[in-house]
Amino acid sequence: MDIGQAVQESAGSVPVVAKSDVVVVGGGPAGFSAAIAARREGCSVTLIERYPYLGGLASGGMVLVLDDMNNGYEVTVTGTCMEMIERMARVGTCVYPPKEDQRQGWDVHKKWAPWGLFDFRSSSKPMPIVMAAAFDPDGWKRASNEMISEAGVDVRLHSWFSKAIVRDGAIKGVICETKAGRQAILGDVIIDTSGDLDVAAAAGARFTEGAYMITTVFRLGGVDAEEAERFRYEEPEAFAILDKQAKKVIGGSWDRWWLKTPLPGIIWCNCPHMTGYDAMKVEDQTRADFEGRKRIYALVEFVRAKMPGFKNAHVIDVAPQLGVRQTRLLQGEYVVTKDDVNNRVHFADTVARGRDYYTPYRSMLPQDIEGLIVAGRHYSATESAQKLSREIPPCMSMGQSAGVAAALALSGGIALRKVDPKAICARVRAQGGDPGDQPSANATLMETAA
Ligand SMILES: Cc1cc2nc3c(=O)[nH]c(=O)nc-3n(C[C@H](O)[C@H](O)[C@H](O)COP(=O)(O)OP(=O)(O)OC[C@H]3O[C@@H](n4cnc5c(N)ncnc54)[C@H](O)[C@@H]3O)c2cc1C
Repeated sequence: MDIGQAVQESAGSVPVVAKSDVVVVGGGPAGFSAAIAARREGCSVTLIERYPYLGGLASGGMVLVLDDMNNGYEVTVTGTCMEMIERMARVGTCVYPPKEDQRQGWDVHKKWAPWGLFDFRSSSKPMPIVMAAAFDPDGWKRASNEMISEAGVDVRLHSWFSKAIVRDGAIKGVICETKAGRQAILGDVIIDTSGDLDVAAAAGARFTEGAYMITTVFRLGGVDAEEAERFRYEEPEAFAILDKQAKKVIGGSWDRWWLKTPLPGIIWCNCPHMTGYDAMKVEDQTRADFEGRKRIYALVEFVRAKMPGFKNAHVIDVAPQLGVRQTRLLQGEYVVTKDDVNNRVHFADTVARGRDYYTPYRSMLPQDIEGLIVAGRHYSATESAQKLSREIPPCMSMGQSAGVAAALALSGGIALRKVDPKAICARVRAQGGDPGDQPSANATLMETAA
């Protein structure tokens, strides 16, 4: 036997350890919302997650700002996303600007931009402060645990999905790798919220392979953020030179390479931007982890020596999850395009929304498999459309609608693709969400679902 050859596995049986109406695979923002929504509609729900905590990229990936939930004049994503924000804020693990500060102006910009709570797609200067939320990763885990437990979802952590159970074109359950060996979990509807389309791909659904830059997000402690901001505004020329050098050392970042967190003295860094890695390959994932850490340590050395506010900076942690923005994308009943997102196209079957764009129900449905629905960053979109519509709030909006759709399919005894999108919207609204069925004034109406 050598590398490149294949080892035959022996056929065996796998014990069934759980069975519920709805099985959700992936406990990230989309999966959390889907599980809660389905449970609130009366379904029994099992939520499967490979890691020992809920939150996906929001907690394990330390992606610590919820944005893309405001279209410039109104908050567009509510529901489970807003419940999460309020829950975290109550215990001091989330910060967002009060309504009177959600506007343009240097006074509010200087106050809230260090948290990243501005409209990052705006071309006006300064960028307006909008409804967005900065949170603590453990705050997210705590709020998820509480909300999922209150809802009565059966959670199975430490369970790595590996195989779909498909019979006659319909998915019937999933198999997970665990410390106790392989385990089967059966369900009448399976919701794939793995972010990488693991379940749908294994079940035979059509997909494309996208890619985007990868990031090892990290946090620094011992930072005097006030001094660092003073330097930015009071010595702009010196700041610009050093900031440029810091960005070169880390190797790619957004305009602000660090942002404040709810914990005093601790900042998070949504960088480096690393390209040329395939996030579905172990070899590339490993190389990216090593490369990211190398750049982080170099940056810390640089800013400690040179940057006002950073002389006592030190690494608190590097996110336990690699920051993967895009891998497999479903080729579903409809593929959302960049034009759809940019033109704010409103579909007759809209069931979810982000900043100012809308998600048709068809983009959550695989073409070929019954009993399966997807939600989150792997939804059916082109690579360029996904890059514009993959933030946490829209993923939560999709998740909530997927959970409701699953419940409606089961209560009506019908296939997922036969569920009326308007009925999904009505139930999401009853749960406190905004499914986007009522288009904002700036939407482009496309009133046929075909
Ligand atoms: C570096 C970076 C910066 C970003 N910045 C922002 C930002 O500032 N604001 C913002 O709103 N969004 C941001 N995003 C986008 C956002 O984080 C994601 O698009 C969003 O988290 C997607 O949610 P999801 O639930 O679809 O997937 P994920 O968050 O990826 O969750 C998927 C879940 O499924 C689990 N899972 C995966 N495979 C398996 C398996 N085989 N078995 C069991 N469980 C599995 C994972 O562990 C995870 O919990 C950023 C993303 C990255 C990577």
